[in-house]
Order: sequence, then structure tokens, then C-alpha cells
Amino acid sequence: MTAISENRTIIQDKIRAAAKKAGRDLSTINLVAVSKKQTPARIQEALDAGMRLFGENRVQEAYEHWAALKPSYPGLKLHLIGPLQSNKAVEAVALFDCIETIDRPNLVDALTSEMKKQGKSFPCFIQVNTGEEPQKSGILPADLPDLLIYCGEKGLKINGLMCMPPAAEPPALHFSFLKKLAQRHGLPNLSMGMSGDFEKAVLSGATHIRVGTALFGERE
Ligand SMILES: *Cc1c(COP(=O)(O)O)cnc(C)c1O
Repeated sequence: MTAISENRTIIQDKIRAAAKKAGRDLSTINLVAVSKKQTPARIQEALDAGMRLFGENRVQEAYEHWAALKPSYPGLKLHLIGPLQSNKAVEAVALFDCIETIDRPNLVDALTSEMKKQGKSFPCFIQVNTGEEPQKSGILPADLPDLLIYCGEKGLKINGLMCMPPAAEPPALHFSFLKKLAQRHGLPNLSMGMSGDFEKAVLSGATHIRVGTALFGERE
């Protein structure tokens, strides 16, 4: 076994234990392997270990990692988990299978017009700035209902919410808040939890946990 497949087993065991504790079905929890700032060798190791769901936080870097590889792995899914500039919508729609960071109307405009042009469409998540931190991306909780309506009008399907809790606060409070918001709007997916807190996220209902360093090791 390689280091990455060992790490994966450890993470999966923890997910299984947390799911059991929460009385949740394991098959509703997806491990998103965050490959940002990892080497091609480590990425290949993850692929060889059978992993097929990856997250990247920058469009340019995602192309460097995946443009050549993706066609060779038909089941592979890529999620964008970092902020997206509207002028990168062309590249984002072409490469990704889900954008988890929708947070403003002009991004919805750019993505829906690109999806039409490319004849490609996929459901996305809205990122919520649950801590209402000024420097952080994500929509404020109070503005979520309007953005959901806007997405509906524009024909962008939203089937989940994503958050990154403030570093200094207990993440579980933010996880359960995000879950409440998702329930209120009938959204099935919740992307929350990273290397340091994914078990708490599973206990709070996460369907997508985004794990980088615990899986791949330290970033470059
Ligand atoms: C980097 C990153 C992660 C993964 O962080 P780790 O602590 O390495 O697991 C998860 N989510 C987002 C949005 C990230 O940018």
C-alpha cells in the first residue's frame, strides 16, 4: 500500500465511525480529494488508489493538474472549491463537473451563458459565508434566498451549499447552521469539513468533505 492509499483507509475508517455515530448511510458521504499544490506523482498515486473525485481551488492550476489526465479517466469528477472570477467561466465550465463556490449574480450570468455556449450543464453549490467575514468569499446567509431565486430564473441548478468556517470558531456551529439553511431550501448536498474537522462535518450532515493534507500530505 502507498502512503496515500493508507491515508485514505484511515480517513475512510473515521468517516465510517462518524457516520455510524450519526446514524447516517455511508454512501451519502463523498470524499473530495483536494489536490491543490500537490505533485503530479501524488495525484497519480491517488488515481492509482482508485480515487475519482477531486477538488481544486484555482482554475489555472486545475488545468495544469487535470487537462491531460481527465480524458483518460472517464468517471473522474472535478469540483472547483475556490473563488471563481467571471472571466474564467469559459475554462471553468469546460473542465469542472461542479462549481461549489457560486456566490453572486454576475457569476451566475457568466456560467449560464457559458454552459449554453458549450452545451454542457451541471448542478452547482452556493458558498455561504456563515461567519460573515468581510475578507471571505461566499454569500451572506441573509442574501441566500435571493441568490437561489436568481439561479432558478437563470436556469442554473443548485443542489448544495458549501462553507468554510472562521478559523477561530468551533466549526460544528457553522456546519449545523449550513445544514439548517440547506434544509430550509430543500438542498440535498452539504460541502463542509476539511482535514482537521471532517468527522465533525460528517456528524453534522456533510455529504462532501474536502480533504487535502490528511490524504496527500503537506502541500508544496
Ligand atoms: C485547501 C482547501 C481544502 C483542504 O484543506 P486541508 O486542510 O488540506 O484538508 C478544503 N477546502 C478548501 C476550500 C480549500 O481551499
